Amino acid sequence: MADVQLLYIGGEWVKSRSGKTMPIRNPANGEVIAEVPDASTEDAAAAIDAAHRAFPQWSSLPAIERGRYLLRAHALLEERKDEIARLITLENGKPYEEAKKEVQFALGYFTWFAEEARRVYGEIVPPPVPHKRLWVLKQPVGVVAAITPWNFPATMVTRKIAPALAAGCTVVLKPASATPLTALAIAKAFHEVGLPPGVFNVVVGRNSSALGDAFLSDRRVRKIAFTGSTEVGKVIMRGAADQIKRLSFELGGNAPFIVFEDADLERAAEGAVAIKFLRVAGQSCICANRIYVHEAVHEKFMPLFVERVKALKVAQGFEEGAQIGPLINEQTLSKVEELVEEAVAQGAKVAVGGHRLTSGPYAKGFFFAPTVLESVREEMRVAREEIFGPVAPVMTFSSEEEIIRRANDTTYGLAAYFYTRDLSKAIRVAEALEYGMIGVNDASGYTHEIPFGGYKESGLGREGGKEGIEEYLETKSISLWIS
Ligand code: NAD
Repeated sequence: MADVQLLYIGGEWVKSRSGKTMPIRNPANGEVIAEVPDASTEDAAAAIDAAHRAFPQWSSLPAIERGRYLLRAHALLEERKDEIARLITLENGKPYEEAKKEVQFALGYFTWFAEEARRVYGEIVPPPVPHKRLWVLKQPVGVVAAITPWNFPATMVTRKIAPALAAGCTVVLKPASATPLTALAIAKAFHEVGLPPGVFNVVVGRNSSALGDAFLSDRRVRKIAFTGSTEVGKVIMRGAADQIKRLSFELGGNAPFIVFEDADLERAAEGAVAIKFLRVAGQSCICANRIYVHEAVHEKFMPLFVERVKALKVAQGFEEGAQIGPLINEQTLSKVEELVEEAVAQGAKVAVGGHRLTSGPYAKGFFFAPTVLESVREEMRVAREEIFGPVAPVMTFSSEEEIIRRANDTTYGLAAYFYTRDLSKAIRVAEALEYGMIGVNDASGYTHEIPFGGYKESGLGREGGKEGIEEYLETKSISLWIS
């Protein structure tokens, strides 16, 4: 019998008003692991009501006290971190060891923002006339609707709710319908540490656009914090126009990974494997999407890269040594397969992989073999679109000027990586790439201390860093006349 979950609204665990539920399946074997309520717009409205009622009291608590709730939830979740990682592996499919790292990283946002809350400073501004006194105040935006994707079921949640709650906002979270269990476990921890009712609410449902509309059309929701595809981001942006809602977006990417002729090739090959394959089997927005290797080192680099890819272990998430799990669903798997088949039909060569895995332990899951494609050209869809799977298209280049132009020739601008030992080149290229996050000889991912976010169609605003809390604050200017 699958685990039965409830919605978290106004500090209570409740069924959906319609009584409907939906199954959550393990993408590695198709088994139903839980039944969750399938929330409707009425449930969303009840959650907004609760968040709206909780706002005056929560926002007027001193920041240090709000931070204490985050720290208490952090401590509890720290005790349960293996259990949370288990849920992530079950609902998302990523290897258990990788899920454990995600939980650790996700929880770091609680401590970071509990501390940042105390540093939300205003300003006293020198007045231009003698009788005025001027100051600038930062205040929480109000009720926030947070919408998150399935690829990082813990991090995507904490990176939004931690700064929002720390800033004094109240939150209605709608996690991805594929992975709501982690979000509900986080809510459970907040419930147990006594977070006041309504400060944090979770609604789970399969009709994402109806729930999204419920947030967009309600004037009490002042801000939408969204992570997901650029396509859905645009739908939300259009919908937000009517009420000029505050928005922050973390959207799709098409990250270039550039290996210059003077790079440490071993390190570059290791970095390419890590950032292409070892993050949710390539289903991450900052995954390398296009690998560019200087023509002078291409022949040396390829065996270093391909050998490492061949050694990757594709397995169900709880198997010892698993490195690559399944893709999230059939649709994602078919798209990856289609991109590879189309590229091959247009002249790309498969150096390794190139197909679904369908037998033995893979028979009931959405597995794709780690794949390296050579002789790729930029007009192929595999180089233009976000792949979201374990497929690395490789291309060559011959000059710095050329590769900067090619790397920037995309509507996306989230993350970019390059390897060189030349310091001047490192600075020139880092400055010239039109991306929000640049890894120089570093593909090891991000930390809480720096802002995360994209240029162009990859996003709006930043999460993490000191910027992360700003997204949940309004600025008020106060002018006082004194006699
Ligand atoms: P998605 O856009 O399909 O869904 C994201 C969330 O939005 C889910 O909760 C979904 O239910 C909800 N949603 C879908 N349609 C909606 C609508 N009309 N109104 C309101 N909500 C709606 O994305 P996904 O497939 O879950 O995630 C993969 C995408 O997320 C990729 O493009 C990836 O690059 C992006 N992503 C970006 C970042 C980042 O930080 N930039 C991080 C992780 C994922």
